[in-house]
Amino acid sequence: MDMEFSPEDLAFQQEVRDFIAENYPAELREKQDEGEEMSKEDFLVWHKILHKKGWIAPAWPVEYGGTGWTPTQRFIWSEESARADCIRLMPFGLAMVGPVIYTFGTPEQKAHFLPRILSGEDWWCQGYSEPGSGSDLASLRTTAVRDGDDYIVNGQKTWTTLAQHADWGFFLVRTDKDAKQQEGISFLLIDMKSPGITVRPIITLGGEHEVNEVWLEDVRVPVANRVYEENKGWTCAKFLLAHERTGIAGVAASKRGIEKVKAIARTEVDGDKPLLANAFFKRKVAELEVDLAALELTELRSLAGPNAGRGPGPESSLLKIKGSEIQQRLTELSLEAVGHYGAPYFRGFGEGDNEHPIGPDYAHRAAPTYFNMRKTTIYGGSNEIQRNIIAKMVLGL
Ligand SMILES: Cc1cc2nc3c(=O)[nH]c(=O)nc-3n(C[C@H](O)[C@H](O)[C@H](O)COP(=O)(O)OP(=O)(O)OC[C@H]3O[C@@H](n4cnc5c(N)ncnc54)[C@H](O)[C@@H]3O)c2cc1C
Repeated sequence: MDMEFSPEDLAFQQEVRDFIAENYPAELREKQDEGEEMSKEDFLVWHKILHKKGWIAPAWPVEYGGTGWTPTQRFIWSEESARADCIRLMPFGLAMVGPVIYTFGTPEQKAHFLPRILSGEDWWCQGYSEPGSGSDLASLRTTAVRDGDDYIVNGQKTWTTLAQHADWGFFLVRTDKDAKQQEGISFLLIDMKSPGITVRPIITLGGEHEVNEVWLEDVRVPVANRVYEENKGWTCAKFLLAHERTGIAGVAASKRGIEKVKAIARTEVDGDKPLLANAFFKRKVAELEVDLAALELTELRSLAGPNAGRGPGPESSLLKIKGSEIQQRLTELSLEAVGHYGAPYFRGFGEGDNEHPIGPDYAHRAAPTYFNMRKTTIYGGSNEIQRNIIAKMVLGL
């Protein structure tokens, strides 16, 4: 694999750098630097700027609004976005349901939903997991029963990320109770404002409102909002999960994270030297950098290899495992680096907190982020489940 950028790629890199420098909103940067919780509007402001530029969905086919970039250009884009610490784009529309709709949807579904995902008009949430049906997702019990041109949906979903902001949700529902588990599931697009939907917050260990329970009671959903055939929703579900897992690797963001940890460790002192001069700490940073470089090369191989353009396969499980472990190790190192300044924030930020922050700015989010990132080895299919997938689908065991 040729690791040198061509002159065209270098020019593209410069174009991206200039665009971000000239267009990234200063108020958003300020909020990020101060570790403030982001609102729905905050998440969408950069999305809308990128949409206007035509750069919102680099991974999509051009006919549906993609950029037509080469894998290298896409790599440069994510690299530069992370380097500039741009806010992450919500994956639910762009990286999850969007690809499902353009791959399996009807012409009407494509025409209606895809432009609204690109523009940021619709915020999506993912209604897969249920109490008792996480790893064993195919055991899900939310039902959808046909009633003329509608389904009547009843059940409960859980861990639904940012559903409090969602306009639409993509839900897995059981449409045939008698079929084998995977064969009785359908994939529905549900308007979150439909009567019968209740979203209840779950407050996480870091004190944030990031996940929710979603209750569905006699929710009427048009049959026209089913993607793909009835009882074949598992095909869409699996396709979407592979996309979700690749994004989860988060290589570019982790590279930026390492730089942040190093900057903290240059400022914090250990005796009379910067913490970064401490051999034990330095070694942990170096080990992380080596693992991240290996992950990056693995991701590049999967982007440029024989499967390029065919979408992610089971090897995305490998990227998910390594990427999520690295993200967690990064937050451990940050917390270690800020030392006792992290302690006041162990309970996270409560709503309406007005206490004066203690310690340097970078210390405030170290503990809540550390707690929050425990999620990475659980969501998107736990890492144990990913190991099972690798054993079966990649190694053929
Ligand atoms: C922060 C966060 C956000 C999330 N967001 C969403 C969302 O937006 N939408 C959504 O639908 N879901 C979401 N999830 C749910 C997530 O997908 C599930 O939590 C995950 O699939 C694990 O399921 P579970 O929690 O039911 O755990 P369980 O399936 O009960 O697993 C418990 C433990 O047992 C292990 N285990 C289970 N089965 C096996 C096996 N066969 N072999 C080996 N080990 C096994 C697991 O690895 C885990 O350690 C989110 C989860 C979190 C934590």
